[in-house]
Amino acid sequence: MHKLRADVARVFADKLGSDPDSRDVHYLAETQRDATRPLILSADTGMTGCNFAVTETGTVVVCTNEGNADLCANTPNLHVVSAGIEKVIPRLDHLAVLVRLLSRSALGSPITQDTSHFRGPRRGGEMHVVLVDNGCSEWLGMEKFWTSLKCIRCGACMNTCPVFRRSGGLSYGATYAGPIGLILDPTFNARKYSKLPFSSTLNGSCTNVCPVKISIHQQIADWRRVMAETHELPVLKNVMMKAAGMLLSSPRLYRAALPPADSTLRHLPRFVVYNRLNTWGRGREMPPAPKQTFHQWWHENRAGKNGAGKNGMPKP
Ligand code: SF4
Repeated sequence: MHKLRADVARVFADKLGSDPDSRDVHYLAETQRDATRPLILSADTGMTGCNFAVTETGTVVVCTNEGNADLCANTPNLHVVSAGIEKVIPRLDHLAVLVRLLSRSALGSPITQDTSHFRGPRRGGEMHVVLVDNGCSEWLGMEKFWTSLKCIRCGACMNTCPVFRRSGGLSYGATYAGPIGLILDPTFNARKYSKLPFSSTLNGSCTNVCPVKISIHQQIADWRRVMAETHELPVLKNVMMKAAGMLLSSPRLYRAALPPADSTLRHLPRFVVYNRLNTWGRGREMPPAPKQTFHQWWHENRAGKNGAGKNGMPKP
């Protein structure tokens, strides 16, 4: 998803020998189809995930827009379903609501292109369902975080997240990206993903759009607290957070510190900011430091005018 057509054309040219200059989507789709279809046709086993598993009927429901799951489920003789236990729902009535929620929140459409219900193997074939716990049972006992198990992976929180929209999925370095990734990934490995809950502005937009009403931004904030309390934060981050806490809790100190900080940034040699030690600066440019802080600008241009007081608030 994060690759442009030109990137895909380059990868295909490199791996599949296609024309590197053709960025036509039909040509690219045909190229991958020609390359992968023989593999599927000759496979012994096809594997799919599972969006919902209905206990009432024993149905495994898989929603896709490409038909890829159906191809894997129906072509080889053996169909293996890997289903997280959090995907199990009680009844068909619930399925109707959830399928609609998923598709609306993911695509804005009433239903996905393929919503396949598997209730058994194809004739002469075999079907195995593997229920995967992967820490979910333990997670269910986490009072502050268990509701994230309700996630139906619609991706709406990612689409609305300003951080995800700018940085893309790979920047999270984990299986689940975006706001939901910030609260799911640390449950698998708190140490490894200790920095993730800090990759958020906590604006709450994710919580607003979540169709299953997971309080995502609240859980992100809770994870930050857990990381700090369990000392999972890197030492540098700890020191920086403490310093930021001191600075931001004192408006006087904050206003006094900004102009020298801006001036220092303007005059620092480039290698001091962009070097191997500063991972933040890899592939990114800081915006130029402003010559004047907002407060200075306000005092020069607005304070005392248009009914505004010196502190920037309207006069009573
Ligand atoms: S957390 Fe909510 S919005 Fe985000 S993917 Fe899960 S269900 Fe969708």
